[in-house]
Amino acid sequence: MSLVDSMLTKEDFELERLKALHEELQLPHEFYFSPDELDCPHCGELRFSKRLYYVLMKLRLFVKEPVIVTSGYRCEEYNARIGGVPKSAHTKGMAVDVLVRTSGDRYRILNFLVNAGIDRIGIADDFIHFDLDYSKPSPVVWTYGSRRHIA
Ligand SMILES: [Zn+2]
Repeated sequence: MSLVDSMLTKEDFELERLKALHEELQLPHEFYFSPDELDCPHCGELRFSKRLYYVLMKLRLFVKEPVIVTSGYRCEEYNARIGGVPKSAHTKGMAVDVLVRTSGDRYRILNFLVNAGIDRIGIADDFIHFDLDYSKPSPVVWTYGSRRHIA
């Protein structure tokens, strides 16, 4: 995707502007991500990469069901409070975590992300993180914790 990136802020999520954004990105108008889904749960601040928003919408269209965001933008304070790594891509509005309920979900989401060229992916038991933070190493897929599974 050759979209030039920029940062969306809360104002960009007002309905009229969001409609215009969907128009620009050639995304359908049936569903959107609301600012409440992506903002910092502690202060309501919102910065979100336009490119990441596009990928998230495309993921939603690909999986054909709602994509539940478990963490989007985090201010530095909130990020530190919940034990996020310093300079987390979440604090730059360049990262998102989405809920994973089943192994089938996990497969579909990963399949989409890899095919979309997303090259920074973290896999937890119940969510998948992906980000566009090009100041960090890529391509990488990491896991959270060291639990061993017998499969
Ligand atoms: Zn905050």
